[in-house]
Amino acid sequence: MLLAHRIELKPNHRQATFFAKGCGVARFAYNWALERWQQRYKDGKKVDEALLRKELNAIKREQFPWMLEVPKSAVQQAVKDLGSAFDHFFRRVKNGEKPGFPRFKKRGVNDSFRIDNGPARPGADAVKVKGSAIRIPKLGWVRMREPVRFRGQSKQAIISRQADRWYVSILVDTPHHPNQPRKNHGGAVGVDLGVKALATLSTGEVVEGPKALNRLLRKLRRLNKQLSRKQTGSHNRRKAQMALARLHRRIGNIRKDALHKLTTQLVLNHDIIVIEDLNVSGMMQNRHLSRHIADASFYELRRQLEYKAKLYGCEIVLADRFYPSSKTCSNCGAVKAELKLSERIFRCDTCQFEIDRDLNAAINLEKLAVSFTDRVNACGGMSAGSDAEAPPSEAHPVKQEADIEQVRITPNRFE
Ligand SMILES: [Zn+2]
Repeated sequence: MLLAHRIELKPNHRQATFFAKGCGVARFAYNWALERWQQRYKDGKKVDEALLRKELNAIKREQFPWMLEVPKSAVQQAVKDLGSAFDHFFRRVKNGEKPGFPRFKKRGVNDSFRIDNGPARPGADAVKVKGSAIRIPKLGWVRMREPVRFRGQSKQAIISRQADRWYVSILVDTPHHPNQPRKNHGGAVGVDLGVKALATLSTGEVVEGPKALNRLLRKLRRLNKQLSRKQTGSHNRRKAQMALARLHRRIGNIRKDALHKLTTQLVLNHDIIVIEDLNVSGMMQNRHLSRHIADASFYELRRQLEYKAKLYGCEIVLADRFYPSSKTCSNCGAVKAELKLSERIFRCDTCQFEIDRDLNAAINLEKLAVSFTDRVNACGGMSAGSDAEAPPSEAHPVKQEADIEQVRITPNRFE
């Protein structure tokens, strides 16, 4: 199983400069390839990323000698990333969606570069990890905040900047084992993600969101306003931008931490977890900022649940996006025609049942798990969560939730 662990780096001044250069080169290569792609397309010529990589390789020594100062794969991976961006674009066109065309990268927006470990041969351009340090080709050893949590061969490293900090995401090929064994098999649970509370479970448990978040959200609004008043290109504007980026990072970290705690508890205690396919309740909110946060939380929750479900051996069931989890009475099954967002208590017109709105939705979601198991049992007998007994782990004990993502096994990941 391929797992990535994202760790903060502690570069010195020279190393941070090198990273900035790596990002700059990768961005340049990406934009160069995008321009060439469009040109060849206009000229009616065949184009793909392999062709552009070859072309760039042939001219870079002459035309862009500074590219040689960063790891070779940073250049190649950038062009491959463009190939993935086009793959993604064409796939979505084929599906009848309306995707945006791949765009030129801007400085300061998602700055990153990728170093791949090719086939092992002596002197190869490779990443090495040892304890709390990582060796970057053409740079040397850089300190990390913590060691990598997984044992196995490191396949690639993505170095990225968020506000004023540097991070490395290390992809490790690791044997499949969870950090902790499952505690118990609590059957199915429905999870309704909210804006006020982080989540309401069908067991009746309400998981409050982190308290610090509301205060920070108010601050975010204020900083946004302040930024809009600063003059374009001014030093003060740059300062305000950095303050805003730092705050975004902090909010994101707090949110992620809360979600990690929630999702770990969910996969440790339940065999089947049912969530909505889209965060419908979040989408109905008209407060712009809280909506944005809730949506982001939803995608993050789903991402975490999906990889943790694989690690710990439980099932995730996604409710159809048109399933009326909020409008259905969890007692008698009657569906209301209309339910205002302000109605925090669900009152059934048919059976007079009264229940908290979010709990009602969570219970309805849990009910979907029953039909899910029936379906699975009917078509082949593999009941959900049957392979859940996990072997005790040899990995590092979990003190704090790691920022781990499961990665789809494709050679080119589009980010
Ligand atoms: Zn009812």
